[in-house]
Amino acid sequence: MSNTNRKLGLAMVGLGKYSTGQLMPAIVQSESFRLRGIVTGSEEKAQEYSTKYDIPEKNIYNYENFDSIKDNPDIDIVYIALPNSMHEEYVIRAALAGKHVITEKPMATSVKQCERMINTCKNANVQLFVGYRLHFEPHHLEAMKVGQTEAKGKLKKIIGSFGFKIEDNGQWRLQKDLAGGGSLLDVGIYVIQAARYVVGKNPIAIKNVKIENTIFDRPSEVDGDVTWEMEFPDNVIAFCSSSYTKESDKLFIEAEKGWIEISPAYYYYGLKGATEQGTLKMERINQQKAQMEGIADTIINGIHNRASGIEGLIDVQIIEAIYKSAKTGEKVTLEYNIKEYIHAR
Ligand code: NAD
Repeated sequence: MSNTNRKLGLAMVGLGKYSTGQLMPAIVQSESFRLRGIVTGSEEKAQEYSTKYDIPEKNIYNYENFDSIKDNPDIDIVYIALPNSMHEEYVIRAALAGKHVITEKPMATSVKQCERMINTCKNANVQLFVGYRLHFEPHHLEAMKVGQTEAKGKLKKIIGSFGFKIEDNGQWRLQKDLAGGGSLLDVGIYVIQAARYVVGKNPIAIKNVKIENTIFDRPSEVDGDVTWEMEFPDNVIAFCSSSYTKESDKLFIEAEKGWIEISPAYYYYGLKGATEQGTLKMERINQQKAQMEGIADTIINGIHNRASGIEGLIDVQIIEAIYKSAKTGEKVTLEYNIKEYIHAR
């Protein structure tokens, strides 16, 4: 980094729905980042967004000349918001260009890819972040506190579900080569994350998996509706589901002396919480802006990286175990090469 007193220069890779609708507006509001570059395969989008965000011509890249970003001192960090199976390639190219890198969730579509991404970033001495925005959201921070400090007694069970009705048949989310998986990898990953950070430990086994390989009765390349259970130490069970055919958005945590529910739980806006004592009143925030300030805190002030590549890898490892359990019909036990739980409070 050339100068830590200025805002960090960020280049956005992929100008799709999430980056243009949520991330770019949050980055321009952030106190620590400045949107300085874009990487796109579309001439029209290059025109539109360079004008909208006042991005100089020299900071506009396409997918072919992206690697020359190495020589651009305006850019400190690159944000990858491409289809899932492209995350690995672009994270590695960004790291080899000497830039810190944020990749959207899921980090990648296999554990092997996650390992290569982590190792490349480590060897290049750059930081790697996954776009897990809920690590910075007040309702979720409260749920983590309740779970990890046992404020309402020992945890008993967790119920989590996230689903939506997928509409456009042409989109990459329904193509196995680009998406890597279906609702489990796309939205089920939020439920896995939430259970892990509420318990503050990793699950030790996966069981009772059911995967529906049709979506609205049509055969599908990717999983449509998925249900699974995660067994945590001390007999805590998380009952989980993800869907491409039904709306659901909920996190329920039951402990010995009380409970907490967030619903909607995982969407960008409108989160609502309740406990056995009534409404849980929490500040409403811009989640993407809060995520960016958290990332800046790690880069500038050396604060622990809550949403690191290791977090992303563990989720993908759990997802691979869910797919394996679905295939065999057996319980799958989990062991982790990385023993530490990263987000302990
Ligand atoms: P999108 O389809 O709207 O955008 C994808 C972008 O990738 C487009 O700009 C498209 O032009 C570009 N692209 C480049 N090569 C492509 C190819 N071969 N096929 C298809 N598109 C290609 O998707 P999105 O909803 O913005 O999702 C992008 C990423 O962000 C995904 O990994 C997704 O999981 C993640 N996401 C995260 C959140 C969150 O809340 N953290 C929300 C939505 C999406």
